Amino acid sequence: MNPSGSLTDSIAMIGKLVAFPTVSRDSNLELIDFVRETLRDLDAEVRLTFDDDRRKANLFATVGPRSRNGLVLSGHTDVVPVEGQAWDTDPFTVAEKDGRLYGRGTSDMKSFIAIALALLPGYVSRLKQPVHLALSYDEEVGCIGVGRLIEDLARADVRPSGCIVGEPTYMKPVIAHKGKRSFRCSVRGLAGHSAYAPRAVNAVEAAAEAVAYLKRMARRHRDAGPYDHSFDIPHTTVHTGVIRGGTALNIVPHECTFDFEFRHLPGDDPERLIAEWKSYIGSELEPEMRAVHAEAGFEVVQLSEIPALDTSAETRIAGLVQELTGNADAGKVSYGTEASQFQRAGIPTVVCGPGSIDQAHKPNEFIATEQVAACEKFLRALLERMTA
Ligand SMILES: [Zn+2]
Repeated sequence: MNPSGSLTDSIAMIGKLVAFPTVSRDSNLELIDFVRETLRDLDAEVRLTFDDDRRKANLFATVGPRSRNGLVLSGHTDVVPVEGQAWDTDPFTVAEKDGRLYGRGTSDMKSFIAIALALLPGYVSRLKQPVHLALSYDEEVGCIGVGRLIEDLARADVRPSGCIVGEPTYMKPVIAHKGKRSFRCSVRGLAGHSAYAPRAVNAVEAAAEAVAYLKRMARRHRDAGPYDHSFDIPHTTVHTGVIRGGTALNIVPHECTFDFEFRHLPGDDPERLIAEWKSYIGSELEPEMRAVHAEAGFEVVQLSEIPALDTSAETRIAGLVQELTGNADAGKVSYGTEASQFQRAGIPTVVCGPGSIDQAHKPNEFIATEQVAACEKFLRALLERMTA
């Protein structure tokens, strides 16, 4: 038995999706139009939700019977940039070599979507429950786009009974991931001649002390937990990634900005972490700054929020994915995905997709064709199950 769709079709579809250079900062509408056209023959019901500028869209498509439940296959359409990376081939033209497909987005994560699109035509007429495809924008910049898609589901009165997010897990079932909060902190000081430094407020030094406190928090979590050893990094992490301030050594800098993040275990409360850090700033740093200059201080804005995922291994979707992949793992990963937003909306969600996160975001990103075959086998079994 071989309903239409084969490894060749899947690989061809991966090539088509990768050819749309959907870097997060750019529009994804051409890809969305292409998917909509592809789904037209399947009599799909398609809902789009847009970003504020209408340059990017989420797509939610339902194929098969129009009942309210069904399963969601979910993926993001955006990819990370390629600038500054030494690629051996054109990142937006899939190159097949030595059992691998090279191209931006092959692992993270256009292959999962492509394989689903290649297989659906062979099953759509026999489906007994709906299959939903959920394609989002702006995942790579903090899982920002999918929120609108999920809000729209409530309006559409769609209540899927489960969701699989096809991020690269090497086709292992993943039931939990860390949450993430990212912030931008701007420090306002008072400029001055460095010979008169005590009469000014040094924003770079204040920022350095605040960053050092974040580092102390990071060490505390590393050394004292709490721990969940099912995660590859078994504790909450704190990280500062960007800092900017100062112009010349003989000027006391009046501005400094830095970006930092918490990546927390499902059991750790990110509100408590940020509150602890703010309390240190409020009690230890700002009084000294304001004694010199009343307007000096810290301003913090949240850049993004990804809730932690903590799906029970007992849920039906977890059991189904374990059964159909033939892998009894219930993995936990450190990176965030859109799964937790589906989960928070009441849709039991697991992460399982082809390729490896090790190859994501790097030059010469690739997916092994063996992984494409493994995902195809899994999705065939899933779709077959949904025809019963
Ligand atoms: Zn991804």
